[in-house]
Amino acid sequence: MTGRSRAVMERSRRVLPGGVNSPVRAYRAVGGDPVVIASGHGAQVVDVDGNAYIDYVGAYGPLILGHAHAAVVAAVQAAAARGTAFGAPTEAEAVLAERLTAAVPGLELVRFVNSGTEATMTALRLARAATGRDLVLKFAGGYHGHADGLLAAAGSGVATLGLPDSPGVPAAFAAHTIVVPYNDLGAVRAAFGAHAGGIAAVIVEPVAANMGVVLPAAGFLEGLRALCDGAGALLVFDEVITGARLARGGAQELFGVRADLVAMGKVIGGGLPVGAYGGSRALMERMAPTGAVYQAGTLSGNPLATAAGMATLDALWGDAEAYARLDALGTRLERGLVEGAARAGVAAAVARCGSLLTLFFRDGAPHDYAEAAASDTAAFARFHRALRTRGVLLPPSQFEAWFVSLAHSEADIDRTAAAAAEAMCEVVAA
Ligand SMILES: *Cc1c(COP(=O)(O)O)cnc(C)c1O
Repeated sequence: MTGRSRAVMERSRRVLPGGVNSPVRAYRAVGGDPVVIASGHGAQVVDVDGNAYIDYVGAYGPLILGHAHAAVVAAVQAAAARGTAFGAPTEAEAVLAERLTAAVPGLELVRFVNSGTEATMTALRLARAATGRDLVLKFAGGYHGHADGLLAAAGSGVATLGLPDSPGVPAAFAAHTIVVPYNDLGAVRAAFGAHAGGIAAVIVEPVAANMGVVLPAAGFLEGLRALCDGAGALLVFDEVITGARLARGGAQELFGVRADLVAMGKVIGGGLPVGAYGGSRALMERMAPTGAVYQAGTLSGNPLATAAGMATLDALWGDAEAYARLDALGTRLERGLVEGAARAGVAAAVARCGSLLTLFFRDGAPHDYAEAAASDTAAFARFHRALRTRGVLLPPSQFEAWFVSLAHSEADIDRTAAAAAEAMCEVVAA
């Protein structure tokens, strides 16, 4: 049933570009009308036509506890009743900041903003100010939000729509961004050689999750650390997805590699708009008002976002088994998908880190964006539609991560694997 979804989309297209407020939601890559959501509870979402789905979109990362978790809902309601914004300090901001600085390696001071985009954008402004250099090195297929200079060879929706770059970004801005392949230390070394004394920072998703999931090769993150140290550049980990998802301390904790600055978002806002960036006291005190680097925000540290973030971290970090359980659920799903693909004779591979995974329609997990992009996206589109009709909702692109939450049960995972096995047979038959 899609009648009401279609009607809502027709209405939306009259007043919103493409009918959406973020491009991937338009389903261009998989075809069909977008699923228009009415509600979500736990691991399930229900569309406006009354169809229920096991959800792996997870709002693209924030919902590690699932939809409408009781503690998060209660915290937001209580905060809203006390006032939704003040433009003044609140104690809750200090409490959430204490929680993060205690958990994240090297995080002495943190600043809350409203999105991951703001977090990476400002972290790089700070890195440029601290080093007195202009260039930033990023990786092809890495997505760091939609700030001008970072829309060079970006992943996520930019990759999904096949946009090499965005019109409206002055060439002079993009000229400050160097792009090299993920997992290619030789290319990073060469860039440092070609731009001696010019590179302010390397920004990286420590586990890439916006070209689909691509794992860092052994030694890659350590190599970046060493190259940055050798060149006097800062290493910026974009942990907007990985922060609080892979471990309390994020990828820094999981891989034992320290970044100079960390950008966060998604999980730490529990489904409300949030971002954060931070690092050492010395670096962060360069931000206004203690320093000269400017960044501000009317709704930064917003009481509702802060409350949702705190409630999420309390539930997640109050459960000593949470990360082991997320990993076990991820492992179970990976196994089911791999078995289903093998039985159907489909060339497919799963890349996974804990509760973050992507099924790629190609032989073997990719190591970089070029390999990810060589996946059979038409097969993915058929697979997505076949799963949708079986009540499983995936992100509508080959180049997005699937998000497993603590609300998923073993039964959800097994139902998903069974549906995927059937869907793969349809993919082959087509
Ligand atoms: C989602 C994301 C961003 C941007 O965050 P927004 O809140 O959408 O602005 C930045 N970096 C990474 C790695 C992301 O996944």
